[in-house]
Amino acid sequence: MTRLRRNIAEMAGYVPGFQPRDNQTYIKLNTNENPYPPSPKVIEAILAEVGEGLRKYPDAASCAAREAAGRLYGFDPDWIIMANGSDEVLNNLIRAFVGEGQEIAYVQPSYSYYATLAAIQGAKVRTFGLDEEWNLIDFPERYQGQLFFLVNPNAPLGFCYPLSFIEELAGRVDGMLVVDEAYADFADDNALELVRRCDNVVVTRTLSKSYSLAGMRLGLAIARPEVIAALNKIRDHYNLDRLAQAAAGAALDDQDYFRSCIEKICATRDWFCTELRVLDWEVIPSSGNFVFAVPPDRNGLRAYQALFERNILVRHFSDPLLAHGLRISIGSREEMEQTLAVLQELA
Ligand code: PMP
Repeated sequence: MTRLRRNIAEMAGYVPGFQPRDNQTYIKLNTNENPYPPSPKVIEAILAEVGEGLRKYPDAASCAAREAAGRLYGFDPDWIIMANGSDEVLNNLIRAFVGEGQEIAYVQPSYSYYATLAAIQGAKVRTFGLDEEWNLIDFPERYQGQLFFLVNPNAPLGFCYPLSFIEELAGRVDGMLVVDEAYADFADDNALELVRRCDNVVVTRTLSKSYSLAGMRLGLAIARPEVIAALNKIRDHYNLDRLAQAAAGAALDDQDYFRSCIEKICATRDWFCTELRVLDWEVIPSSGNFVFAVPPDRNGLRAYQALFERNILVRHFSDPLLAHGLRISIGSREEMEQTLAVLQELA
C-alpha cells in the first residue's frame, strides 16, 4: 500500500476491548459500560423522534442538547460542543491544535487512544511518569508542545488528580491542556472550573458511562467560545443524528435517575474493592466506574484467563506498566459477586 501516508501504514490502530457477538453469554466488565439501562425518559425521547421526521437532517448545531448541557454545567451554550462520542472531540482537538511533526504529551499510563490519534496526525508523543508526590517526572519548567492530554480520573488506574495539580499544569503548558473527564461523574471532584480560569483548558465529558449511552455515541467538550468555534469548523456538520440529540437532552435533564445510578455503582465499587483487599489484592482507590487491581501473585494475565474461562470479560493490558493487574468495570452487584467468586477460587 505505497499510496498510504507513511504514518498510517506504520501505525497499529486502536483496539477496543473484546466485543463478543453474543452479549448474553458474557458478563462484560471490559469497556466500562454502565450495567443499568438509560433513563426511561431517554427511551421516550428517542421513540418520539422515530418517524417521518427522520427524512430531515438534524439540527447541525445540536442546540437543545447544548442548552441542556449548559444548564447542567453552568456555561452558556457557546462554551459547549456536542460530539459523536467524546472520542470524536478528542480527535478534533488534535486536528485543530497539532500539526504534522508537532508534539502531544500525556501521563503514562493514560487512555491509549491518544497515541493512536497522534499517529494518525503524524504528531510526536512525549510521555511523563508521575511520582508519589504528584510531580511529573522530568517535566520541563515550561512544556512547549501543542497539546497535553490529562485523563481525570486517570484511566486505567482510576485515581483523581488534585485540582491544584491540574491548574499548575495548565500554567506550565504553552499549548492546550485537554482534561478528559470521561469518568468524572463517578468522582467527588472535577476540573470544570478551570475552563473559566485558564484560557488553555478544555474539559471533555461523555454520556457513554454515567448516562448509560455508550451505544448512542454522545460526548461533549466545554471550552472558551473561541476554542469551540474552531472545533465547530472541523467536525462533521451533522455529527449528532436526531435520535442522539433527543437522547442527550433527555439524559442530561433527568438528574434524579442519573444520580441514583451513580450512587448504586459507587456503592458496588466500594464494596467490591473492600472484598478484593480481603483477598490480598492491591487495589488503587478508584474515582471511576472501574477499578485497577493487582492479584497477590502479580500475574494479571492468569486472573484474566480464569475469568475469561467463566465467561467474565475484564481488561488486561500487555503494557509492562499494567500487565501485573486488571482493569475491572463495575457492573451490577450480582455481576460483581460472580466475579468475586471466581477470584476467591483463584486465591
Ligand atoms: N476517554 C476515556 C478515558 C475513555 O476511557 C473513553 C472510553 N473508551 C473515552 C474517552 C471515549 O468515550 P466515548 O467516545 O464513548 O465518549
